[in-house]
Amino acid sequence: MGATMSEDRHEEDYDNYLLIAAYRGGQYQGRAWAKKKGLDNLSLIGSGVSDVIELLKQAVQAEVRRRSDALRETLPQRHRDFLRRRGHIYQGVQPVRRKHRAAHCHNCKSTVDAALDFECIACGQVVCNECAACGCGSA
Ligand SMILES: [Zn+2]
Ligand SMILES: [Zn+2]
Repeated sequence: MGATMSEDRHEEDYDNYLLIAAYRGGQYQGRAWAKKKGLDNLSLIGSGVSDVIELLKQAVQAEVRRRSDALRETLPQRHRDFLRRRGHIYQGVQPVRRKHRAAHCHNCKSTVDAALDFECIACGQVVCNECAACGCGSA
């Protein structure tokens, strides 16, 4: 796949980012534009178009990991707020113990498979990492 990137410019969609590598100002520059709230835009320099794309992908992976770590840290608090807003009682969260079907969050429509770590003790459903919704609000 990298072998086909011989042009001076390359664009590619990658994991909630648009990656752009271009030869400009005497060097190969790369930019990654985030398509999701909470992710930072990235930019870097490489030795060629395919090199820049490769570096951008590594940087995107690190940024996506940083964001999901941050989301996970605040999840219990956000989940408590979510339940309070909807008039439910917070009973706590626990690590996901059984396999849940990969699905879209009923509340924010995010894909919620790999990002999921906690389930709501009250309803036993997974808590969305993005918006902190569980099954309590939908039933
Ligand atoms: Zn959600
Ligand atoms: Zn619940």
